[in-house]
Formats: sequence, C-alpha cells, structure tokens
Amino acid sequence: MIQLENICKQYTNHNHMVHAVDNVSFSVAPNERVGIAGGSGSGKSTLLRLIAMLEKPTSGTLRLFGEDIHSIQNHTEIYRSMQMMFQNPLAVIPPRMNLEAFLLEPYINYGLMDVASAKDDIRKWMQRVDLPENTVYKYPHEVSGGQLQRVVLARIMLMNPKLVLFDEPTSALDAVNQKLVLDLLQKLHSEQPFGYVFVSHDIGLLQAVTDRIIVMKDGQIVETIESKRLKEAVHPYTKSLVEASL
Ligand code: ADP
Ligand code: MG
Repeated sequence: MIQLENICKQYTNHNHMVHAVDNVSFSVAPNERVGIAGGSGSGKSTLLRLIAMLEKPTSGTLRLFGEDIHSIQNHTEIYRSMQMMFQNPLAVIPPRMNLEAFLLEPYINYGLMDVASAKDDIRKWMQRVDLPENTVYKYPHEVSGGQLQRVVLARIMLMNPKLVLFDEPTSALDAVNQKLVLDLLQKLHSEQPFGYVFVSHDIGLLQAVTDRIIVMKDGQIVETIESKRLKEAVHPYTKSLVEASL
C-alpha cells in the first residue's frame, strides 16, 4: 500500500546538517498495523510527515497506493485516503468551531453526502466512538482530551481512509483515557479495513496495537520485529526501549 525506498530527509540547522531520516526503507501492506518506536529526535515525526506528503524527501523513492509521489494525478483522492492524527487535538480543532461543524467539514470538502444525511451519519459515529450524541454541540474547550481524540478519530474514520498515520495520539492522555482510545482504535480496525502507522516512544504500547514494530535511532532503522516477538529483540537499543516501557 505504501513503499519507502532509501528515503532520506536532511535539514540544515545553524550551518550543520541533520540527517533526520537516513536511508529508510519499508512498506506497509493493506490493513497492516505498523509501529514506529524510538526515542525523542530519532526521526519518527519527520518520517510520518514525509509519508503524509507534508514535506518532500531529500532523496529516495516514496510510493503511495502504487503511485510515485512525484507523479500523483488525483491529490484529492490521496488526501482522503490518507489521514493523520496528532498528540494535541486542540491544535487541530479551531477553538470557535463546534464539534458538529468540525465533523461536517470532510463530508462537505469531499462531497461525501448532503448536509442533512451527514448530520445523521455524524450521530451514528458518535455512538461508534462511545460518546453521547449531544457532544457534537460542544466546543473543543468544553470536552476532555480523551473525548476530543475520539471525535478526531471519528472524523478520520468517517472518510473511510486506507491508511492512517498516528503521531503519539495518546501521549497527552492519562492512562485510563489512553487505554480507552487504544481499545477504540482496535475495535474500529476490526470493523473497517484500513492500515496504519503508529509512532510512539513507548514500545510496550506499540506491542498492544500493532503487528510489526520498526525501531528507529538517529534517523535509521535498527531493527524490525513482529510485535508478538518483541521479547526476542536482539538489538541493544530495542532492548533498552523494552526495559524503559516496563
Ligand atoms: P521524533 O519525532 O522521533 O522525536 P523528529 O522527526 O521530530 O524526531 O526529529 C528528528 C531530527 O530532525 C531532530 O534532530 C530534529 O531536531 C530534526 N528536525 C525535525 N524537523 C526539523 C525541521 N523542520 N527543521 C530542522 N530540523 C528538524
Ligand atoms: Mg515526534
């Protein structure tokens, strides 16, 4: 579904070169759940921004749904098919927009259905993400971080994406809400086919929500391991991440 071949991204910071992503190759199959683990500054967010086409690689080949990023014809279709979720929902939802308006945007932007049908559909989505229907009349500051992330997840899933990129989406939540959102993600994944790439510094969390974990350090992949075999990791850096998440 996505393929990265020898992807590099360099930045120049105060006259010295930073290799944020350094010769990274991997692919994600349809419906696959891939984790990216690594400490702060290891290049995880940069890698997701490259896949999301928010930035261009310095070198290497990136194919999304079979098309090289430099020859994509229908950007609208790719933008709908590939969604991204971040740590802080308040940075994503405009403060003066109620949640219904926020949820209506993709129906309107992508012409998914007329507004009356979309409003009905939004109420079904509130049930699917375990929120009261009247949550849609609230403003972002009136609901908790965990509830907002469920609204963001509903807005992503209603677009029926093929791939979702998660950048530490639960890192700002307390343990209880973190589990609620991760359990919800697993429920949605079992109900609707989509693949995802989930970035986290917490390799234990990744083990619970992915099929395969790619471990990054200083912009490079140091190990790739099946999530259920994490205990058999051989690279010392992977082992140190496992220790840190216990
Ligand atoms: P992570 O998400 O794993 O914490 P990042 O991808 O944010 O890592 O950062 C990887 C490296 O690239 C860091 O050294 C960071 O300072 C650098 N970096 C990231 N984005 C930029 C940017 N826009 N300009 C300059 N340097 C950047
Ligand atoms: Mg990051």
